[in-house]
Amino acid sequence: MTVSKIEATHKKAKPQSKEIPFGRTFTDHMFVMDYESDKGWHEPRILPYEPLTLDPAAMIFHYGQTVFEGLKAYRTDDDRVLLFRPEKNFERLNLSSQRLSIPAIDEEEVLGYLKELVELEKDWVPSFEGTSLYIRPFIIATEPSLAVAPSKSYKLMIILSPVGPYFSGGIKPVTINVEEQFTRAVKGGTGMAKTAGNYSSGYQAQAKAVDEGNADVLWLDGVEKRYIEEVGSMNIFFKIDGEVVTPALSGSILQGITRTSILELLRKWDVPVTERRISIEELYEAYEEGKLEEAFGTGTAAVISPVGELNWLGRKMVINDHEIGALSQELYDTITGIQRGRKEDVHGWTVEV
Ligand SMILES: *Cc1c(COP(=O)(O)O)cnc(C)c1O
Repeated sequence: MTVSKIEATHKKAKPQSKEIPFGRTFTDHMFVMDYESDKGWHEPRILPYEPLTLDPAAMIFHYGQTVFEGLKAYRTDDDRVLLFRPEKNFERLNLSSQRLSIPAIDEEEVLGYLKELVELEKDWVPSFEGTSLYIRPFIIATEPSLAVAPSKSYKLMIILSPVGPYFSGGIKPVTINVEEQFTRAVKGGTGMAKTAGNYSSGYQAQAKAVDEGNADVLWLDGVEKRYIEEVGSMNIFFKIDGEVVTPALSGSILQGITRTSILELLRKWDVPVTERRISIEELYEAYEEGKLEEAFGTGTAAVISPVGELNWLGRKMVINDHEIGALSQELYDTITGIQRGRKEDVHGWTVEV
């Protein structure tokens, strides 16, 4: 299908510095496509960015039938615009949709629409160090009905937001609280899907962690409260006695594209790496034996977010003296280098707009 376009008559001012608060500024246009059970996905269009009108009974408001994605467009030094493995985001959007009983999209087709949208908004991709254009595709259930059943109509939208560097004063290792009371997800639940309820249900634990001086929460498995799952909206890696360990995908953990990319890099570099279950007791033991060398969260927002300190039931693990580890730094430099076109993209990870 060809996408129809209505150009915005009024263009907004673009940020003039790298101090851009996350997710509050949006570009001039947005992408919209509708689904009806008799028509399938139809009417792809690029419109001026504007509020939506929805029926108060629209099913998204009542039972949370919705999924989303997050990726970025980066400006290179020679003014090209690159996306990082965007096909993986649309693949994951469909996985999330399947879990939420939302009809699948044509991944390749929608990636084509995304490229058209970013092409139109190219001037919004900031060039300051560490900045990018954050891309938020999402689907909402729109059928006006209070029936507890999948909606018969949906809207897929893509909005764009210029964002500043995750760490404004250079990478800083963060302090994380190991959450003992609340659970993010359980096997068989929705943990592997990027769906709204997974995030709002974490706010209480997050607020508690922040109150106690932490930046975020490390989630344990919901059944035994022993096995490490992930951090806030990042996957987690540990370097223990020379070996890199990350929790295996259990069904309750989000399959991060940064996580996948890091596993691929480590294997190529011949760094020993395993995906397996790892308990908090095992981690603490490794710490006490002086074997916990590095810890870092991974995700699109920060790429690598080093963990400088873990708090677990009043016990404190200080990792690498609150400094970023050598391997964390190398992974960060490699991935951000590829994203900004400064390092050769030997894996074919970037897609030029
Ligand atoms: C998005 C997300 C991640 C990271 O995924 P990336 O594809 O690497 O950005 C990790 N955990 C959760 C819960 C997430 O929502």
